[in-house]
Amino acid sequence: MKKKVLWAVGGVLLLAVLLIGVLSAVNGYFILAPSVQLQLNGEAAVEIAAHSEYADAGVVARRGKEDLSAQVVTDGTVDVTKPGTYTVTYRLTVRDKEYVQQRTVTVVDREAPVLELLGDAQMTVSARKFYEEPGFTATDRCDGDLAAAVQVTEAVEGETLTLTYTVKDAAGNESSVQRVVTIRDETAPVISLKGSSTVYVTLGGTYQERGCSATDDVDGDVTGAVVRSGSVDTSTAGTYTIRYSVKDKAGNSTSATRTVKVYTYTPNSADRVYLTFDDGPSTNVTPRILDILAEHNVKATFFILNYSESTKYLVGRMINEGHTVAIHGYSHDYATIYASDEAFMQNVYRLRDKLLADFGYHATIIRFPGGSSNTVSKSYNKGIMSRLVKRVEQGGFVYFDWNISSGDASAAGLSSTQIYSNVTSRLGRGRNNVVLMHDSSAKGTTADALENIIIYGKANNYTFAPLTPSTRPVHHGVAN
Ligand code: ZN
Repeated sequence: MKKKVLWAVGGVLLLAVLLIGVLSAVNGYFILAPSVQLQLNGEAAVEIAAHSEYADAGVVARRGKEDLSAQVVTDGTVDVTKPGTYTVTYRLTVRDKEYVQQRTVTVVDREAPVLELLGDAQMTVSARKFYEEPGFTATDRCDGDLAAAVQVTEAVEGETLTLTYTVKDAAGNESSVQRVVTIRDETAPVISLKGSSTVYVTLGGTYQERGCSATDDVDGDVTGAVVRSGSVDTSTAGTYTIRYSVKDKAGNSTSATRTVKVYTYTPNSADRVYLTFDDGPSTNVTPRILDILAEHNVKATFFILNYSESTKYLVGRMINEGHTVAIHGYSHDYATIYASDEAFMQNVYRLRDKLLADFGYHATIIRFPGGSSNTVSKSYNKGIMSRLVKRVEQGGFVYFDWNISSGDASAAGLSSTQIYSNVTSRLGRGRNNVVLMHDSSAKGTTADALENIIIYGKANNYTFAPLTPSTRPVHHGVAN
């Protein structure tokens, strides 16, 4: 009886084991199912260069022969542009059980910054003090702009200055470039002639050597080292050349020349030219005109307006250099000066008295603003010009109009060639040619034209003179 029971129990157990085994093999839901495997492909710790491509090797997930890889959930990203350590996590859940694997990926900056010079890598300068750093750029793909971190070191050997530029990124990658600067003075001095490069001297006249200045980029003022050669024989008509040469300490030399033309001038006292300049003095044009007149030994007449402390010296020059200083008026404002006879006379007296006080100079020649034939004054005071032409003469003045207009009043910036042609084409023989020009600040082209007008006049034997109270006047006639 006992044996039968044991056999029965054993048989049942055997059946149960067989059943479990069969079922497990079929659907895997039973305790004898194969275990789940989650394995990394590749290494668990990976190091890669920044900015390289990162392709994760992934994992393999299996249970028995079954591939569960598609059910794996991957977590974590790798930013290849930022150095650092990143973790990638792989998770697989099977029947509420979680399987986990991890990989660490370290992104390392292995790339040196890009360091580039601005300007040339090879340069030459005359002296160390003239070297101006043209600059550089330094950028790193991981760290960005590193220009501020660039170190510059200098080494000098002979005339060679070597500049070494070095920069490191945060990971210690270093870049370095060099610039070689040769310090050698290869620049010659510069000569500036004083006065014109072509000078005209009348036969038998005096050539005035105006000299020159010379500066060198390294040596500074080298005027004292200028050697002048050539001479001018003013008793023989012809063209002469004066040469100015200078060398700097490094031996760079330069030269400049001036042409001097000696020409025949036999002034005819019957053919007179009175150059007159109205509305000055101005700081820019008047000095140029005075210089040209001095260079050609020509005396002229300045009909001035009130002058300031800064232009007072120009009036002094006019007087000292033999020109006639005449009165145009303290003010040029038509509405003010032609308001009444008295207003006009006060405008004359005020400037006359100032000249007397400043220079002890008695001005007795006047020119009416607009000329005696002006038609503007009648709109302020009808008939005033008829009275004024008498009134000024009673006051001891003589007035002058003009018989040649240079045209420089009519249009600002009239070309110097036009001014030259206006004057020279209207010069007449056997008379007083009173030429109207202006030396106010906008009349630069008048100064440009002046020298050629003088040369033309002398070459045609005109006599240049300043107006005096006894010069035969040129009057337009009153038109009010
Ligand atoms: Zn004027």
